Amino acid sequence: MSSTCDQAKEWMMRVIDHQASAEHRQALDTHLQSCQSCAAEFADFRHTKDVTDRMRSSMEFDAILDAIESGVLARVQRSLAWLLSGAGLMLIVCWSLVDVLLDESVPMAIRIGISMLGTGSLLFIIETVRWRRRTAPHDPYRSVIR
Ligand SMILES: [Zn+2]
Repeated sequence: MSSTCDQAKEWMMRVIDHQASAEHRQALDTHLQSCQSCAAEFADFRHTKDVTDRMRSSMEFDAILDAIESGVLARVQRSLAWLLSGAGLMLIVCWSLVDVLLDESVPMAIRIGISMLGTGSLLFIIETVRWRRRTAPHDPYRSVIR
């Protein structure tokens, strides 16, 4: 390896980092035409630089998506959607249950069965919500959106 090759490596770094002057770029081009080992090394540098640039831009895109997903508006919208859906479902279920339970034409066994089913479901929901509230602060994946 000659001292010109050492000099060429320094020019390569500058070219890769867009810090090379026009005359350094020209000198490097001239050297690469006559030195295969430096030309191969420069091709490797370029490839590595391309790969890391693409990696960085895809990471930036993920960061933008995460910022949108975890934004205040998105969180409020999600909470509101859950609240409205849950409240609507609860209202319909309760209304239907009361309607059936008060209907004298429905056999008593069915009404008792429906009461038990409703109470059991309510207990399941309460237990699930309590469990979720207890464990959520310790969930290692709570900040993972996708
Ligand atoms: Zn060389």
